[in-house]
Amino acid sequence: MARSRTIVIAGAGIGGLTAALALTRAGFRAVVLEQAARLEETGAGIQLSPNATRVLFDLGLGARLRPLAVAPEAIRVVNGASGRDIVRVPLGLTAAQRYGAPYWVIHRADLQAVLAITIAESPDVTLRLGTGVENFAVHQHGVTVEARGAQGLRDEQGIALIGADGLWSTLRTRLGERRSPHFAHRTAGTTAGLTDEFRESVTGLWLGRDAHLVHYPVKGGREINIVAIVRDDWHEPGWSAPGQQGELAARFAGFAPQARALIAMPDRWQKWALFDRPPGRPRTRDPVTLIGDAAHPMLPFLAQGGAMAIEDAAVLASCLGRDEDVVRALRTYERTRRTRVARAQREARRNSWRYHLAGPLGFVRNAALGALGGENLLRRYDWLYGWRQEK
Ligand SMILES: Cc1cc2nc3c(=O)[nH]c(=O)nc-3n(C[C@H](O)[C@H](O)[C@H](O)COP(=O)(O)OP(=O)(O)OC[C@H]3O[C@@H](n4cnc5c(N)ncnc54)[C@H](O)[C@@H]3O)c2cc1C
Repeated sequence: MARSRTIVIAGAGIGGLTAALALTRAGFRAVVLEQAARLEETGAGIQLSPNATRVLFDLGLGARLRPLAVAPEAIRVVNGASGRDIVRVPLGLTAAQRYGAPYWVIHRADLQAVLAITIAESPDVTLRLGTGVENFAVHQHGVTVEARGAQGLRDEQGIALIGADGLWSTLRTRLGERRSPHFAHRTAGTTAGLTDEFRESVTGLWLGRDAHLVHYPVKGGREINIVAIVRDDWHEPGWSAPGQQGELAARFAGFAPQARALIAMPDRWQKWALFDRPPGRPRTRDPVTLIGDAAHPMLPFLAQGGAMAIEDAAVLASCLGRDEDVVRALRTYERTRRTRVARAQREARRNSWRYHLAGPLGFVRNAALGALGGENLLRRYDWLYGWRQEK
């Protein structure tokens, strides 16, 4: 690989893989180093709002993703206790026309497979699995990245290094971050399965005391993805653990029968503790930057962590494509993203409080949402879903 156009990416999650593709479109070569021996996405489904699908379309992935994705007609916000609708936020055609790109839900494995296949076809991307980045050194030609694989330590050369290594980012620490992500006192349980009850093509959002439930169709509508988030003190930093169905059922005991039936359906759950960071990232003059959860982890109450990683990838590639000065391009990327990702992080954090209200405050929330109506509620997210990259 020619060294002068090669960019090294640490991490092959949604952010790293999208960045690799976006960089090739901007004329670069990418070496993606992934510590895991196999590409595997944690969790079952992901919502891809129009700000994310627009980027994926621009990268030419629309035709491959379309048969695997579902475009839900609405977000159905439900009073968890009564099972009655609070408001329906129109998606489907309304969202596609309003934002010029669809709102999709998809199985994570399907999204990852499309990204991985497209990368495998590109002569400009090398993916090295089982290779964990440990450190880097900056010099006049760029950056030397030190990574450990089955054969021991190896060096990788590039003009820049992108840390797409997730919430527990090693590169963030190497860039001077001293604080760890903080526990949000919430745990998420996710699973996917077959159900006849929830055939409707909607994203369901059930709100209740200290807990909420999200479900949507995946696998072209053949399966349903369920995410249950509860206020909780269990936290094991890092990785997911098997969840107990009985444990979750107890937390949703006050929900309507339909929601309880959904919780009772799968016998296997995957659970993980949710962590957050305040906005901001370590400052550096090095040709190194961060994208996705490494840069700005986001609580999953706005369904935007993956979307922001996808946006990051597009903006980063565009900045690098427009400016010969790599360090300056990376700083432009960081400046461009700062306000928007901080707003999304704040909004997600607010929702973590709003979603779990009960009693009089829950009543006020439900009344306000109902009075606002679905169309107006959608309009409130124009800043988020209507995002377009400056060309
Ligand atoms: C319950 C839940 C629901 C969610 N729902 C949505 C949703 O609907 N929509 C949405 O947009 N987002 C959602 N998110 C957020 C989304 O999943 C994440 O924001 C997104 O996956 C982050 O992608 P990433 O590539 O930045 O990081 P990751 O997916 O964490 O990928 C990081 C990769 O880097 C690798 N790695 C780590 N360290 C190293 C190293 N030193 N060297 C090499 N490789 C390394 C890891 O193995 C991993 O493969 C949700 C999150 C949760 C928890």
